[in-house]
Amino acid sequence: MEYLKINTQFYLFLFAFALSACEMDIDEPQPIDHLELGNPSNAITDINTPDNYLLRKAQYILSYNRDRAIANWVSWHLSNVWRGDVDRQDDFRGDDELPDIWFRAAGSDYRGSGFDRGHICPSADRTNTVANNSATFFMTNMIPQSPDSNRGPWADFENFIRSQIADGTQEAYVIAGAYGRGGTGSEGRRTTIDNGNITVPARIWKVVVILPNGNNDVDRVNASTQVIAIDMPNTQGIRNRNWADYITNVDTIEDATGLDLLSRVPISAQRVIEERVFILQ
Ligand code: MN
Ligand code: MN
Repeated sequence: MEYLKINTQFYLFLFAFALSACEMDIDEPQPIDHLELGNPSNAITDINTPDNYLLRKAQYILSYNRDRAIANWVSWHLSNVWRGDVDRQDDFRGDDELPDIWFRAAGSDYRGSGFDRGHICPSADRTNTVANNSATFFMTNMIPQSPDSNRGPWADFENFIRSQIADGTQEAYVIAGAYGRGGTGSEGRRTTIDNGNITVPARIWKVVVILPNGNNDVDRVNASTQVIAIDMPNTQGIRNRNWADYITNVDTIEDATGLDLLSRVPISAQRVIEERVFILQ
């Protein structure tokens, strides 16, 4: 009898302890994982996988392609927490996290090419600290982008996404990248720039998952979750087009790129949200 009593007290103590640990978890800010919804190409940081080389930064995570000297994709979390009033740093520079022996695009390598140094993770998505904004200016986060897409519908879509998280009630996961070869800049069509070192992609795409603000984000993605996918040509002549003209679905981008997007989302929900085509209200 005495044994049973002590045992019961012990388990009550354990239960109370576990309960308080849970409460601590809820109060703690959750660490942000930019790959919360999945690693689209199972990229790893291994010099032997040069065309799918994972670069992890506090501000975003990307798969780098050495032979193209641009990213395959960049993935990042976006919420009000990342936004502030820090000035654009404009410190375009080579990324010293790439293996030393690889070609590394310098901040000046796009000069005279007719293409913009187009951010994949936008400068304006990282304005809470100088360090976070500056990190968007690594050349591994740039593509040779047609000025008309970069300053037209691509920029308008970036602004649209920021407008969705502006009041703090929603957060987003953004995955964006480039595929194919050959685009048009202000100096005409090119397949590469910088004496062949850097590939000019043919198409640029972006997938955005928007959630109510909260924790355990991947567990909250379901068949009703709002997903927006766009895919546009890296060409001139589209400056005044509406970004919504380029809406597609995730399945189409997966087919074109060979990536598996949103791979950590349960397959039943993944099927629904990857097939749905967003309709702009
Ligand atoms: Mn841009
Ligand atoms: Mn998928």
